[in-house]
Amino acid sequence: MTVKQGKDIALIIGAGTGGLLAAAALAPHFKTVRILERDTLPDVPAIRKGAGQAAHLHSLLLGGLQIMERFLPGITQELTLSGAKCLRAGIDQQIHEYGIWLPERDLGCSILAQSRYLLEHVIRSRVTQLENVSILDGVRVGNLTLDGVGGIAGVRLAEPDGEAREMPADIVVDCSGRGGKFVRQLNELFPGMDRVDEINSNIVYASAIVDKPESLAESRENILIIAEPGASAGGALLDIEDGRWFVSLHGRNGLVPPTTPSEWVEFARQLPADRIYQRLIQARKIHPVALYKKPLSTWRRFDLMPELPFRYFPLGDVITSVNPTFGQGMTVGFGHAEALHDAFSDHDDIGLAQSDYIKTSAAWSQKAWRVCAAYDSSFDGHAAKKNYELLRALSQKKQAEIFTSPDRHLEWFQRAQMYSC
Ligand SMILES: Cc1cc2nc3c(=O)[nH]c(=O)nc-3n(C[C@H](O)[C@H](O)[C@H](O)COP(=O)(O)OP(=O)(O)OC[C@H]3O[C@@H](n4cnc5c(N)ncnc54)[C@H](O)[C@@H]3O)c2cc1C
Repeated sequence: MTVKQGKDIALIIGAGTGGLLAAAALAPHFKTVRILERDTLPDVPAIRKGAGQAAHLHSLLLGGLQIMERFLPGITQELTLSGAKCLRAGIDQQIHEYGIWLPERDLGCSILAQSRYLLEHVIRSRVTQLENVSILDGVRVGNLTLDGVGGIAGVRLAEPDGEAREMPADIVVDCSGRGGKFVRQLNELFPGMDRVDEINSNIVYASAIVDKPESLAESRENILIIAEPGASAGGALLDIEDGRWFVSLHGRNGLVPPTTPSEWVEFARQLPADRIYQRLIQARKIHPVALYKKPLSTWRRFDLMPELPFRYFPLGDVITSVNPTFGQGMTVGFGHAEALHDAFSDHDDIGLAQSDYIKTSAAWSQKAWRVCAAYDSSFDGHAAKKNYELLRALSQKKQAEIFTSPDRHLEWFQRAQMYSC
């Protein structure tokens, strides 16, 4: 491993999926990469406070897996050895949109299915095996420290005893999630940092882990039923480790799914198709139902700023946090991590790497944003009805094509999976 001069320490705030991949992507470029995480990280796969969204179904798109393999070779195999399920694309994945099920056809590849906490656990154990990467958990970054000449100098930790400890860095990668605490801090000194585009997503998730019935022990499925404005309930079911399904049901336009297990199962009947309901009524056990409200999708427009504070690199949900229906969030963060790696491969100079990174990471955000904006516009605002009709017509055209052409089916699948050939 050759380390270029002047890049001693990269600090990463947050050990979510974005922060972990960022560490793997930066490891070849910096002598030391250190992740700072406020949670005490569990030794086993488990939901933790700082990543509470892990109580909901997380699909890992094929494009995300492709990027993980680039930086953590062999991780697909490790995930399957840890219990992740291999689902045959086009066969095991069943998608219902605008009144029909997409065709069943073997697309010649597989997707991986697991809980978000298993995924994070496996990535974390791989990342900590990298010799120049470490994770300091149970420490909260209080704020960023400034260098007085237009940049940041590092971070200040907020110690439980009230003491503050400073850590200098050559770059700080902000992977602290969608809240944007550090963006708000920087905005006071660098106005314009908080420019954010928003879309009303107005979606409420209600999710539970479900023990599968014995009769379906060998089945492998990912069912996705897209909500439509006329029937504002949607949902997804995903086979995960330990003989379980992860099931997320959601409501839109003010429809809030119930959290009492029996009522929650009944809610699954309201979806535009009843396949998830048919699975749920056979369940051995339904674990507690967790609720998550996502009123807005957000895109912080760092790409439109003439210049960012020197040494500051936002990544993942800090930049874009989109409606989860299409499972894009983690993959977009991985795309940002890849952009970060490539920017430092192309530039020795941190400033040049930063401006390159901001442009290329925005391209990933844009892809997810387009999907989210098109879909959410059919639920919201004056033009919702017109947008819905347009979207449905486009979708029906696509459906007609993919029913007749295996090539178009594969192309569509790869685009939806943010996969690059
Ligand atoms: C209901 C729901 C369902 C979703 N479904 C999917 C899906 O199917 N597929 C998909 O790809 N994505 C999905 N997502 C999106 C996905 O969860 C996010 O895109 C992804 O987790 C973002 O990763 P991140 O690393 O940027 O942020 P996070 O995962 O939010 O991680 C941020 C980390 O920073 C830490 N932190 C914050 N502040 C500090 C501080 N001051 N000091 C130290 N540490 C700090 C936090 O503790 C946390 O560990 C879903 C989201 C939701 C809400």
